[in-house]
Amino acid sequence: MTAASESRTALVRRARRINRELIELYPEVHTELNFGSPLELLVATILSAQTTDIRVNLVTPTLFARYRTAADYAAADRAELEKMIQSTGFFRAKTNSLIGLGQALCERFGGEVPPRLSDLVTLPGVGRKTANVVLGNAFGIPGITVDTHFGRLARRFGWTTSTDPVKVEEDVGSLFPRKDWTDLSHRLIWHGRRVCHSRRPACGACTLARLCPSYGEGPTDPVVAAKLVKAGPFS
Ligand code: SF4
Repeated sequence: MTAASESRTALVRRARRINRELIELYPEVHTELNFGSPLELLVATILSAQTTDIRVNLVTPTLFARYRTAADYAAADRAELEKMIQSTGFFRAKTNSLIGLGQALCERFGGEVPPRLSDLVTLPGVGRKTANVVLGNAFGIPGITVDTHFGRLARRFGWTTSTDPVKVEEDVGSLFPRKDWTDLSHRLIWHGRRVCHSRRPACGACTLARLCPSYGEGPTDPVVAAKLVKAGPFS
């Protein structure tokens, strides 16, 4: 099977089969960032750029106890905030984003995180990916989060040929009902982190092998492939 020779109906069927397999494989999905409100998730997601969720989760309990509202971030003492988030890297830029975020939320959205993609992407430090994470996980509004794992797996599955995140979002979104978007995003990312790695995907140990047109991109020998599989928790 090649993705190119496949009819649209067959593509949709295969995509949904892959999703069913992923549901069996990863029944419990959630973001690996800890948060208790949309604002906390927004802050945690901004902090997660270029670092691991584990590192962010180490920093956020103290941070969230000290900064509870958008107004708290708007009025933050820069040096204090920088120190608190220093271990997440790029802390000066992230501090700018968090203070700017607090100010923008207070000035334009009454201090609340707006539940709309078009509003979220106008906030400092918030791109489409972050906005979709927040919509899907804090507001329960379906969103497709195209990060590096999601894009790579979507291309390997033949769901898209694009490397443009907006186009990937559109192409994949058209294959699934909206209600599936958020959990599908988590599952693809989880599979990318654990099995379908960028350099050497563990094809010989992958339960999606028979549904995947890219089977063989990584070692197919089960023993070799099994050694490539990474256990969570991640990120
Ligand atoms: S068969 Fe290989 S390329 Fe396809 S999803 Fe599995 S690990 Fe990735």
